[in-house]
Amino acid sequence: MANAKYIFVTGGVTSSLGKGIIAASLAKLLQARGYRVALQKFDPYINVDPGTLNPYEHGECYVTEDGAETDLDLGHYERFLGVPTSQTNNVTTGRIYQSVIEKERRGEFLGKTVQVVPHITNEIKERMQLLGKTGDYDIVITEIGGTVGDIESLPYIEAVRQLLWDLGEHNGIVIHLTLVPYLSAAGELKTKPTQHSVMTLMESGIKADIIVCRTEHELSDELRYKIALFCNVKREAVIQSIDASTIYDVPNMMLLEGLDKVALQKLDLPQKGEPDLTQWNAFLQRHKNPKHRVKIGLVGKYVELQDSYKSILEAFIHAGAANEVRVDLETIHSEHLNEENIEARLGHLDGVLVAPGFGSRGIEGKISALQYVREHHIPFLGICLGMQMAVVEFARNVAGLAGANSTEMDEHTPYPVISLMESQKTVTDKGGTMRLGAWDCELTKPSHIFDAYGKTHISERHRHRYEFNNDYKETLEAAGLRCTGINPETGLVEVIELPSHPWFVGVQYHPEYKSTVATPHPLFVAFVKAALQRKLEVRK
Ligand code: GLN
Repeated sequence: MANAKYIFVTGGVTSSLGKGIIAASLAKLLQARGYRVALQKFDPYINVDPGTLNPYEHGECYVTEDGAETDLDLGHYERFLGVPTSQTNNVTTGRIYQSVIEKERRGEFLGKTVQVVPHITNEIKERMQLLGKTGDYDIVITEIGGTVGDIESLPYIEAVRQLLWDLGEHNGIVIHLTLVPYLSAAGELKTKPTQHSVMTLMESGIKADIIVCRTEHELSDELRYKIALFCNVKREAVIQSIDASTIYDVPNMMLLEGLDKVALQKLDLPQKGEPDLTQWNAFLQRHKNPKHRVKIGLVGKYVELQDSYKSILEAFIHAGAANEVRVDLETIHSEHLNEENIEARLGHLDGVLVAPGFGSRGIEGKISALQYVREHHIPFLGICLGMQMAVVEFARNVAGLAGANSTEMDEHTPYPVISLMESQKTVTDKGGTMRLGAWDCELTKPSHIFDAYGKTHISERHRHRYEFNNDYKETLEAAGLRCTGINPETGLVEVIELPSHPWFVGVQYHPEYKSTVATPHPLFVAFVKAALQRKLEVRK
C-alpha cells in the first residue's frame, strides 16, 4: 500500500507550455478540496542545481527556506499553495548522478557495474517518493522538466514507468501536457502533434491518463473526441488549457474543465465536495478590480527576460491586490541609464525597485538611479544588490567617501562599504556556497520596515556573498543612513533606511521569495502603498 498517491506531469511537443502552472493549479484545487498536496520538480539538466545558471539561461533562481537554489517553478508552487518547499522538491540529473557516483566511490554497489538502469533510475524513483513517504502528504505531484522524447528525459520517463508499475493501479497517474497549434492559414486547430507526442510517451511504456491541451482557441467537442480516440483516453480526460490573462485564473479554468475531478477518479480518491476557493477568488476579485494605478520602475540588468525577476513580478501582483492597486511595472535596463536620460526614464515613476544581481555590468546605471530617487523623494525598495548599491551611492554622494564601492565591483576601492563576508574569503567553489536560505533579523523602531511587518523579529531568505561592511556603520549613520534590521547572531546589517526620505528601504535579503497569494509580502505591500501615496500627493 502506497503512503501517498502520485501524479506525474510530463510535457510534449514544445517547452514553455506551462506545466508548472498546470501542476500548481491542480495542486491548488486538490488542496482546496482538503487534500495535503506536495509539488516537486525533476529537471533533466546536468547542473547540480540552477544556482550556477545565468538568469538568461533559466530565468530566476528560486531560494527555499533551507537554502536550496532551485527552479523558478518552485516559486509558483509556494505562491499557489502557501506551503514552503525545500531541497527535496527540486532534483536535477546532476544531483542524481552526483549521489550515485558518491555511492559508487563508497563501494555501496558491491562490485556491480553501475548503469543508467537500474542505478540512476532507482535513485530517481527513491527521490520521487521521499516526500510521499513522510506521511505528510496525501498526493504528490511531480513535474518532469523538459519534453518527452528528449535524450536527457529518458531516465526520468523510465523511472516513472517503473514507479507506476510498482505503485499499482489507482496509486499513480500521468498527465501529459501538449500543444494544439492553430494554423491561421488553414483556420484550424491541429491535433497531430498531440497524437505524436502521446505516441512517443507510449513507446516508453507510459500511457497518459489525462491530456491537457494548451491552445489559443477553444477546442470543439469534435476535436476533443478526436484527441480522446487517437490518444487512448476518455473524453472527459481531454482538458483544454486556453491562454489566460493571468496565471491566477488557471485553477478556476481547470476546475471548469474538471481536471481535479478526473484526477481524483483515476486515483480512486473521493471528491470531498467542492473546492473551497473563497480566499483565492477574493484575491482575484481585488486583482482584477483595482481602484488606483501606480507606475513602478524595475531597474535591473536581466530585464530582457521577464522570468529573471519572476518572484518580484508576482510579489507586485500580490501586493497590488492587497492595496487594490494595479501596479504597472516599467522595466529599465540599468546599462542604458545615465545622467542625461535619468529624468526621462525615472521622473514619471511613483516608485523604483533596484533589483538583485551579480557582477559589475550596469552598476553605474543603478547608482545613477539611486541618486535620482534619493534626491527626488521617489519611494525606493532595494533588494540585495539593490540595497548594496544604495549604500554605495549614499557613501559616495552624501557621506563624502569618493570612490566607495563594493569589493565585488572594485577590489581596490578606497572605501569598501560592501565587502566579502569573512566566511566567504576562502570559498572557491561557486555552487551552493553563498549565504543562502532563511536567517533571522531584528528590526528597530521607529522605522518603515517595522511599520511594514508590524513586529520586530523576522526571518527572510538570502542569496549573496557580499555584506554591508560594519567598519563603515558609524560613518554612514553619522551622515544620515539608518541600519534598521540586524542579524541578532552575527550583527550583519540586513536593512537600511534614509529617515530624511519619505520611503527609502534597502534589504540584504529577498522578500520576493516569500510572497504568496494568501500572504502578500508585507514589505511589497508597504512599498506599493508608499508609491500610491506619492502619486496622490504629486497629483494634488
Ligand atoms: N552580488 C551580490 C552579492 O553576492 C548581490 C547578490 C544578489 O543580489 N542576490 O552579495
